Amino acid sequence: MKTSILVLYVFLFSTISYSATKVNINIEEESNELVVYVDNNEFTVVSVKFKFILKNFKQIGEKTTIFVIEPGVKRQKLTSFSRIKENTSSSFTYEAEVIYGNYFQKEFELDYPYILPYAKNESYEVVQGYGGKFSHQGIYALDFDMPIGTAIFAARGGIIIEVVQHHNRSCKNINCAKYNNYILIAHNDGTFASYAHIVKDGAKVVVGQQVVKGELIAISGNTGFSSGPHLHFAVSYFTFTEEKTLRTMFKVEEGKELIELKVKDKYLRLY
Ligand SMILES: [Zn+2]
Repeated sequence: MKTSILVLYVFLFSTISYSATKVNINIEEESNELVVYVDNNEFTVVSVKFKFILKNFKQIGEKTTIFVIEPGVKRQKLTSFSRIKENTSSSFTYEAEVIYGNYFQKEFELDYPYILPYAKNESYEVVQGYGGKFSHQGIYALDFDMPIGTAIFAARGGIIIEVVQHHNRSCKNINCAKYNNYILIAHNDGTFASYAHIVKDGAKVVVGQQVVKGELIAISGNTGFSSGPHLHFAVSYFTFTEEKTLRTMFKVEEGKELIELKVKDKYLRLY
């Protein structure tokens, strides 16, 4: 006699504002086993963390709960479960959290030469830097003061993995964070760059597009949690609980050393 199995699942809400959503998890019953399959329809590697809640099931093989899945993968088998006893009531419940990037990667290219994310021969002031009191507490991010309508260029090449450009609102408190328009680019060292507060319909790229350093990607604006027109730029990686921003080095002029950008300084892009 075959007992029916209740399969329940929950995708946990993430505290991270950027989270992979185009990942499908399917549980299939095959010759008395439950097999966990995944599709990754994102354009970057993702990591999935499971919490399995089992009644009369045991995981076959390694007791792994965190898996790394390459972009574009369809029906990858992650793990499987078998019944402990036949003809006994069983249930299988899981919770899953998905993040961009390889969770196990902890080293990144910290001396990469980023370029200033605006046109050559233009200069803008950094009005909020690392740890800035308005909205950068505990994060390494840079705000460039620039009028709405300024062209934004990729500071580093990569693949566009998120484009949000439908919002048209802003305010000076965190409640407006949900109105942020932005572009998220995956770099080949496992980091991600965000270019935020772009103008409504201001994206010049689409998801899945490969861009090179210095390519036009967006038009700046003042959407989301913002105190005035500017570009917010940050490079990060993700854990299951937070976005971890990284310090970035910039090449501003040919033949000059890489520098870290400082608040209240104005930077002319010569390179
Ligand atoms: Zn900012």
